[in-house]
Amino acid sequence: MSATQIIHSIPSDPLTGAISVPVYQTSTFIQEAPGVNKGYDYARTNNPTRKVLEDVVANLEGGHSGFAFATGLAAIDAVLKLLSAGDEIIAVDDIYGGAYRLFTHVYEKLGVKVHYVDTTDASNVADKISSKTKLVWIESPTNPTLKVSDIQTIAIIAKSVGALLVVDNTFASPIAQKPIALGADIVIHSGTKYIGGHSDLVAGLVVTKTQELSEKIKFVQNASGGVLGPWDCFLTIRGIETLELRYKKQCENAFAVAAFLSNHHAVDEVFYPGLVTHKNHAIAKRQQNGLFGGIVSFTLKEDTQDATNQFVTSTSYFKLAESLGGVKSLLCHPPQMTHCSIPREIRLQSGIKDSLIRLSCGIEDAHDLINDLSQAFAGVNKQKSKHYVES
Ligand SMILES: *Cc1c(COP(=O)(O)O)cnc(C)c1O
Repeated sequence: MSATQIIHSIPSDPLTGAISVPVYQTSTFIQEAPGVNKGYDYARTNNPTRKVLEDVVANLEGGHSGFAFATGLAAIDAVLKLLSAGDEIIAVDDIYGGAYRLFTHVYEKLGVKVHYVDTTDASNVADKISSKTKLVWIESPTNPTLKVSDIQTIAIIAKSVGALLVVDNTFASPIAQKPIALGADIVIHSGTKYIGGHSDLVAGLVVTKTQELSEKIKFVQNASGGVLGPWDCFLTIRGIETLELRYKKQCENAFAVAAFLSNHHAVDEVFYPGLVTHKNHAIAKRQQNGLFGGIVSFTLKEDTQDATNQFVTSTSYFKLAESLGGVKSLLCHPPQMTHCSIPREIRLQSGIKDSLIRLSCGIEDAHDLINDLSQAFAGVNKQKSKHYVES
């Protein structure tokens, strides 16, 4: 979808001609007679502002229907509610920490078994898949080590046993990647990140490929009720108006930052799918539309908590905070923040070293971001020599 198509997929108000989407801040809708209404009866079931967002997002992802939830995790939860006790999931090992917590501490207790595998090698999925597998759950690129999995190949493997392929497309955004066109059945987003784009709301989105799946998710959305409120729907729609512009700038900044980090003597490893040195660069190039995202992770040569803490508290444009995808650059230390609910051994297994730092590049000027990182490295070095003198 071009920027033009995205912007003009957002309708103006047919009633008044308002060019922006009205916020229908209402709980209920007056009925002419019992069951006779204008398509809306109660705001959990449907709301006109939410309907616009859901249609726009379905269109963005090339799916049948879209659904808006209160958070990304509420969206994930709605998909998991398609399962029954005894069903199994094969999930990417480098999964978002909150998804891991939900899978492990809520759904495993209810009798759903989850197998975590390295999905960057599709044969690992083929090895674990069985008639009990109902969902294959991947993120691509993953958070925070930006592993990329081959969606097309994994879709074929999932289909061989009738399992659904779910892709968390939060990092790639619909600008870089269209999982449904690559064979996925369901796409989910944390709308909190790139789609909202301004670090001013939390939201979740589900897009389904078929009418049958749409009906199932619609049922869960209404039955469980974790919907997004109309004001946040409005803000999310407004975010989508500039999604293409923002995402491309963020990718450009991330590329410049990744190149800078790759040449820095204090950096051990840089994770960015746009680098030819990245393990999954070839797949990323093929399935991501030439865009590699706004997130860059790296580890320090000095792989210690002290050096890492010093670095993440020394930047000025990169603010230390959880979350990503907004116009302002953020940085975070996943082992102590977003991924602290994952045990250290499991973190290390999936490549999340103690000094792993994740950057979310915003839309500032690339040279300012690079200068900011450069002075933070200088701070780490200064601290080091100070320790040396003192001891
Ligand atoms: C943030 C995030 C989520 C969870 O979304 P919330 O809006 O925070 O609930 C899920 N998946 C990925 C990849 C994320 O980055």
